[in-house]
Amino acid sequence: LAQLFRPLDMLGMVYRTIRQGLIDMAEMFRLLDTSVEVPDRPGAPALAIRQPSIVFDNVVFGYEPDRMILKGLSFEVPAGRNYAIVGPSGAGKSTIARLLFRFYDPQEGRILIDGQDIREVTQASLRAAIGIVPQDSVLFNDTIGYNIAYGRDGAGIDEVEAAARGAALMPLIDRLPQRLETEVGERGLKLSGGEKQRVAIARTLVKNPPILMLDEATSALDTRTEQDILATLQRVSRDRTTLSIAHRLSTIAEADRILVLNEGRLAESGTHSQLLRAEGLYAEMWARQATEAANIEEAAE
Ligand code: ATP
Repeated sequence: LAQLFRPLDMLGMVYRTIRQGLIDMAEMFRLLDTSVEVPDRPGAPALAIRQPSIVFDNVVFGYEPDRMILKGLSFEVPAGRNYAIVGPSGAGKSTIARLLFRFYDPQEGRILIDGQDIREVTQASLRAAIGIVPQDSVLFNDTIGYNIAYGRDGAGIDEVEAAARGAALMPLIDRLPQRLETEVGERGLKLSGGEKQRVAIARTLVKNPPILMLDEATSALDTRTEQDILATLQRVSRDRTTLSIAHRLSTIAEADRILVLNEGRLAESGTHSQLLRAEGLYAEMWARQATEAANIEEAAE
């Protein structure tokens, strides 16, 4: 009988792998709104991670051959550190995330994770190693528990609960009569933007990836919720290599290092205070945002 079920098992595995792929893709679509698949090299091994550092080594990339977006970009995120990418709109921040997830290969240069060229390993292993917390998460019309367990196939109830706790979802779940079994989505409980993002964080905790990619624009959230979510993300990103795409500078002042992207290259990098002292592009962007925030406050008064 076991023999008979083996093909079904296989099919189940294939289905689950595809399903997991789909949710990652769905999240990436939302985050990055584009995708082109790059095939695995025949016989490619899985990515083996001991020290999950990320290296961009002289990366040249353009979506179209006559318009390069990244023009020789080099940086390293050491294992376990929390780095942020900032830069003017259209500078290529999301493009970096797309390349790391290998939706495209660079025209020149290399991208390494833990010393391994990501072109040389299987995509499944690459994508299993990277967790994405997008600003706008996709929820299924199913229970909260199901939505969290989706992070990794075979996740048990204990793991789901631990993840919910880690994502600070317990105060919400404790209020619901059916707890993790509560239906959410279109036919169920409508979750707020902040709650949805917490579900995405819990899902990522279940996946437990060594590398995190955060899209930190939380413009849809009020300041208090944003601060709470940021605190949760900071906790979650501890001990993981984290790359945050920041659209607003106020959210990344705590990063170990800030990479400032301009015209396809690394213009500056340093901590928030180092970059302010350098009085370069970052200091300029910071001053501009401060003025804008003050203007908005003035207009509101
Ligand atoms: P923002 O902060 O506004 O989100 P960004 O720094 O994340 O910007 P990217 O999304 O990486 O910028 O885009 C960089 C450039 O690449 C932009 O000029 C954009 O128009 C271009 N681009 C993005 N996706 C594609 C695509 N699929 N095909 C062609 N050009 C693209």
